Amino acid sequence: MDTIRVGVIGLQGDVEEHIHALEKAFKHLGVKGEAIWVRRPLDMETVHGVVLPGGESTTISKLLTKFQLRDVILKMASEGKPILGTCAGCVLLAKEGDELVERTRTELLGLMDMSVDRNAFGPQRESFEADIHVEGLGNYPGVFIRAPLIKKTWGDVEVLSKIDDDIVLAKQGNILAASFHPELTGDSRFYRLFFEMF
Ligand code: GLN
Repeated sequence: MDTIRVGVIGLQGDVEEHIHALEKAFKHLGVKGEAIWVRRPLDMETVHGVVLPGGESTTISKLLTKFQLRDVILKMASEGKPILGTCAGCVLLAKEGDELVERTRTELLGLMDMSVDRNAFGPQRESFEADIHVEGLGNYPGVFIRAPLIKKTWGDVEVLSKIDDDIVLAKQGNILAASFHPELTGDSRFYRLFFEMF
C-alpha cells in the first residue's frame, strides 16, 4: 500500500492523542501514512483501517450507533481492514463482557473471540505503568488507566502479552486489542504491530 490512511473514531475519548501518536509512529518507523479524525460514515470510505480509542465504552458504544458507524466498522472488519482498539476500544471489540458491561447494557461490536472485564483493576489501581513483554517487540511500557483485562479467549485469537494470568494484548486476524494505552507512551514501536496488518 502506498500510503496508509488510518481513521481514528472521534466520538469520545483520547482521539487527538491517537492521531499524534500515529503521526509520530509513521515518522519514526519510516512508514508513509496519515491519521485522520473520523465521525461520519462518509469519512470512513476514505480510510484503510481504524482505531477505536480509549474513553468510556458505554458512551462510545451509544455514539457508534447514533453516528451510524457501528455497521460501517463491522463491514470494514469483515473486509479484512485492520482495526486497533485500545482500552475502552478493547472492551468494544470483545464478544463477551462482564457484569458491568451487562448492567450498563453496553453493546459490544463482538469482533473478537474473547471475554473482557471492564475496570478489572478496580479503584485501588486506577492508573499505573507496568513493563510488559510483548510478543515480537520485547519489553514495552504499558500505561493502564481504568483498564480492562481480557479474561478468556477462544477461536483463533493470538495472545501477545499478559500480566500474570490475564491478557492485555491480543490479535485475531485483522483485529488488534490492547487493554493499555500505546498512544500515551513516547514509544512508537507498538504501532509496528498495527502497520504490519495493512
Ligand atoms: N474502563 C473504561 C471503560 O470501559 C475504559 C478506560 C479507558 O479507556 N481508559 O469504559
